[in-house]
Amino acid sequence: MKTQLTTNLFSQLICSNCGDIFSGFLLNTISTCCNKPLLANYHLDQYLPKELIKVNDHSMWRYFSLLPIADKQNIVSLKEGGTPIISLDKLAANNDITSVLMKDEAFNPTGSFKARGISAAVSKAKELGIDRLIIPTAGNAGGALAAYCAKANMQCIVVMPEHTPTIFKNECRLLGAELILVKGLIDSCAKKVQEIQQSKNYFDVSTLKEPYRLEGKKTMGYEIAEQLDWALPDVIVYPAGGGTGLIGIWKALQEMLKLGWIKGPLPKMIAVQSENCAPLAMAAHHRSNWKENFLARPTIANGLAVPFPFGMELMLNVIESSGGQVITVSEQEIIEAIKDVSRTEGVLLCPEGAAAWKAIELLAKYKKISSENKVLFLNTASGHKYLESIKNYL
Ligand SMILES: *Cc1c(COP(=O)(O)O)cnc(C)c1O
Ligand SMILES: [Zn+2]
Repeated sequence: MKTQLTTNLFSQLICSNCGDIFSGFLLNTISTCCNKPLLANYHLDQYLPKELIKVNDHSMWRYFSLLPIADKQNIVSLKEGGTPIISLDKLAANNDITSVLMKDEAFNPTGSFKARGISAAVSKAKELGIDRLIIPTAGNAGGALAAYCAKANMQCIVVMPEHTPTIFKNECRLLGAELILVKGLIDSCAKKVQEIQQSKNYFDVSTLKEPYRLEGKKTMGYEIAEQLDWALPDVIVYPAGGGTGLIGIWKALQEMLKLGWIKGPLPKMIAVQSENCAPLAMAAHHRSNWKENFLARPTIANGLAVPFPFGMELMLNVIESSGGQVITVSEQEIIEAIKDVSRTEGVLLCPEGAAAWKAIELLAKYKKISSENKVLFLNTASGHKYLESIKNYL
């Protein structure tokens, strides 16, 4: 008989600012003490040998013990996660880096890593008896929510900027969501969501205003460690929008340290943004007053167009405590990177993934990463979803 890793170690939610405790089995959104994101906590002092995971399935739910769902019956899955890590040897050699690894999130359902967070959020919503969900999105999260709501027989409203490429809109419509288009960026969509949510009684699954998308995204951290045989890269490069992946991967690393699954030193966490919308870069330099003169424009990397991320402080903490930094790249550089990588390695990156690769190229050029470093970046979606966006630059 196979041993199954079925114990669940989820304990409670805590305020990311002051540590106050909230129930993970009642409906909670943000901390009512400080109005900050809530983080899921686990009983990590319990003995949980990492070898046990090997018998579980190959979706992100193989880490069920470390995910916030009490009853496996509530899992809503389309087999998200378990994405490959690919070695980009030619790019590494051309840039004099020992190893460039890419975790290719294009392999997820709905073609982006948003599937991970949304699978966790929809599963938890089911566990809590919620069946009407609403989301502000720059594109990919809306498609993912529409898909998982269809699977779970839930009602779904997606609010998206009207300038978003058609493919993201049609994806939501095909998957049965109600689509609402709004002028502006995702922050304008979030305001619209606030209105609708109150009048129509829909539950808002905005990034970090709902505690569980982060938990789905953190599984990238577990997978990176497990797939690299628990020997972490020196640098992880992440294209950051709302920041769940950046915060989530770091959270997973901290959890694995406590579980004794990995040893330090931990990788430097590098966040990459588009010059058109780089609130992290602004905030890193002007921590208290960055919002005053902040201007954001749309970018071809629509996943990065998040002008006022709710998880700003958590992101800055990850970057600082890991010894990382923020890098910005131009639209031109993103497009060049898509072309370079597709011609060199045969992978069609999404613009967000291309931005991450470009950042590595810049870091290598200015000797900010040494030639011995093992570097890993995330290609966060399939480039095929962006063929329409890039057609004018071919
Ligand atoms: C949402 C998104 C991002 C940014 O992810 P966050 O976790 O919100 O920082 C990056 N790339 C793509 C393709 C996305 O859809
Ligand atoms: Zn608090």
